[in-house]
Amino acid sequence: MDLLEKCRAYAQADEARDVGLYPFYPAFQGPAEGGQAVLDGAEVCMLGGDDYRALSVNAQVIGAAQDAIALYGTSSAGPRLLNGNLDLHEDLEADLADFFGYEAALIFSTGYMTNIGVVSALAGRGDHVFLDEEAHASLVDGAWLAKASGAAVHQFAHNDPTDLARQLAAVSTASALVATDGMFSVRGDLAPVADLTAVCEEFGAALLVDDAHGVGVFGRGRGVIEQAGMRGRVPLMTLTFSTSLASQGGAVLADAKTIDFLRHTSRPQIFSAGLSPADTAAAHAALREVRRRAEAEPDALSAAEYLRRALDALGYNVAGGGSPVIPMRFPDQLSMLSAQRLLVEHGVYTNAVLPPACDSYQLRIACTDAHTPDVLEAVISVFASLREDLLPRYRQTA
Ligand code: PMP
Repeated sequence: MDLLEKCRAYAQADEARDVGLYPFYPAFQGPAEGGQAVLDGAEVCMLGGDDYRALSVNAQVIGAAQDAIALYGTSSAGPRLLNGNLDLHEDLEADLADFFGYEAALIFSTGYMTNIGVVSALAGRGDHVFLDEEAHASLVDGAWLAKASGAAVHQFAHNDPTDLARQLAAVSTASALVATDGMFSVRGDLAPVADLTAVCEEFGAALLVDDAHGVGVFGRGRGVIEQAGMRGRVPLMTLTFSTSLASQGGAVLADAKTIDFLRHTSRPQIFSAGLSPADTAAAHAALREVRRRAEAEPDALSAAEYLRRALDALGYNVAGGGSPVIPMRFPDQLSMLSAQRLLVEHGVYTNAVLPPACDSYQLRIACTDAHTPDVLEAVISVFASLREDLLPRYRQTA
């Protein structure tokens, strides 16, 4: 069998295409504005994004990206280590560190590269990496790279500090990295940051919280660490710019010595071009906006609570609570894909999520600040009109 035989034999996507239920790579015509996007020429309510603060269409953010292109051009044209370093990067790093309460920050080109770059640079021979079993793929892949250079990799039960403590007690070294998402983007639940911190402190392990989905939303914009009252006690935090910071890229926050180490040793940092001027400036403008709005509770949270209650009252057994994400489970792939398609046909876009992204078949419904009561009422009336079609499928999961 030649190498590409597996590609010729790959049928999963075609099976969904053949029955008109392929949900991936939807091509939107333009951004989601006012919670609405255009898909295949029709307007849909966008309930499948990560732009929780709706800043990707914010005038200041767009203006900052345009100004950066005018002043710096379109590319950083090389790794920051050699020639792609801009004052824009350093200004953003200083503000990130200040806002999130760390000594220093380091930007990467994506959130994915941030996690891969941090975990693989910090853990190697003789070290242990402990991952929440639901941790994001980028943390998992970082751990695989660490394993290739000799680290031992373990998984602890989802959001279970007791299981983590049991496993940490079983290894005879303090040289351990514990990594978890802050908010789990499909389940919508939050890591028990205070308890994880206590366990890590007890065993001398370094805790890394990837708060890709918590920044901008929780803890006055500072994320789940702040919300848990753990500011100053979690040594490593990562984030992405592609959620509430309305751009592209990511960053790690830590003490100054750790950041200096990563600046000079993390391979995705030193062998990849610096973040583009437009992306850097957009993330910085979004950060300023998040800081400006820090004292007000994000509308995304109240919108999600309102929608969750309405769906619950309609008989939908929606999970979650206290986050912008509402997960809705289905018993199998076909029922979930059919529901996703039906909702799109009625003008509501949700994310179809299936293994390996999660352990079940579910729709991920995500609210943003743009989901005003009017927008939500329209969505609720669609769910109400589709009850007869959706509820029987849904109930089978109960
Ligand atoms: N971490 C988590 C928890 C994520 O959900 C994602 C993807 N949104 C990433 C990291 C990777 O971020 P990026 O899209 O910037 O690569």
